[in-house]
Amino acid sequence: MQPAFANPVLETPPKISISITEACPHACAHCYSDCARAPKAGELSIPAWRRVIDGLTEEGFIQAYFEGGEPFAKPGFLDLIETTAPRMMTLVRTKGAGLDAAVADRLAAARVGRVLVDLMGADAATHDATAGAAGAFDQAIAAIGHCVARAIPVDVLVVLTRSTAPQLNAILALAHGLGAERVGILRLYPLGRAKAIWGGIALPLADQMAALAALAPPPGLKVMQSWHPRDQNCCWQAAALNAFGDMIGCQYLREYVNYGNIRDRPYLDAWRNDPLYKQIRSGNVEASCPDCSGSQRSHGGCRSTAFAFHGRWEAPDPFDVTLNDGVDLAVLPDRLR
Ligand code: SF4
Ligand code: SF4
Repeated sequence: MQPAFANPVLETPPKISISITEACPHACAHCYSDCARAPKAGELSIPAWRRVIDGLTEEGFIQAYFEGGEPFAKPGFLDLIETTAPRMMTLVRTKGAGLDAAVADRLAAARVGRVLVDLMGADAATHDATAGAAGAFDQAIAAIGHCVARAIPVDVLVVLTRSTAPQLNAILALAHGLGAERVGILRLYPLGRAKAIWGGIALPLADQMAALAALAPPPGLKVMQSWHPRDQNCCWQAAALNAFGDMIGCQYLREYVNYGNIRDRPYLDAWRNDPLYKQIRSGNVEASCPDCSGSQRSHGGCRSTAFAFHGRWEAPDPFDVTLNDGVDLAVLPDRLR
């Protein structure tokens, strides 16, 4: 019997991730949000988001991380950024669609803290094939350039899949050459459209670890990843809203939890009182790798992937080599198919 562990306890979470829309001009085959070209019924309006931001700042949140869909596809998004950035550290994750020179001017003037741009390949053919949109790679590269030219810090994000694994070092070199400060390598989650094509894009854990072991970043480029021994359980500090205002804890928990709608309940009420939220962020897990716990100061790895593959919130995270216990990450459990 493994001992129970505990994560740090916060009275107020410091930062929140906001999916501002599920509309997007791209059509990625693996899209976690199952995005569409047009906004979906029930997405919050910009005036409604303004009221939400007011409430979050009053509750003590100090950082807002906007993502989508494609945030720049939301009419009025820049106006929201301009009223949010003076009050909270503001970050934006984008595929680059719509982030042209004029938009970058406004982001710089608003003093946006960081822009994170997804790359799905080191070349246009690979990236555009995944995005389902010709020209998507060029847009992403141009967006990075517009931000770097205005001294907006840029991170490049890449999801580790069968198509990106052979190109990781080329993506690192590309990102560094464009002036990105960091590259974050993200695991693939069985969410949205990714579930339907999982077997064609997901790698077994051994192949994921081999791809990470082969990384050779250029000097000066910081690489972030969350595999052993950095298998983070960041649920203890995570807060998130989907495009409809539902409180979901983390964007990667979007299909598993709903703590109520922000228009009906303050975020801190859910944070402090929802039994499932309290359970998930407690860090009470069945097993924890000492190396990962030592490096992360939290325990048990990602709760989304643990729940996805085992169906239990306390389960071991199968993306950790010491806790995987024979789970084939290239095959989804029947209940997720
Ligand atoms: S760019 Fe993002 S939001 Fe748009 S389809 Fe691809 S994964 Fe979905
Ligand atoms: S579900 Fe995973 S990525 Fe999301 S906050 Fe929890 S540990 Fe972090």
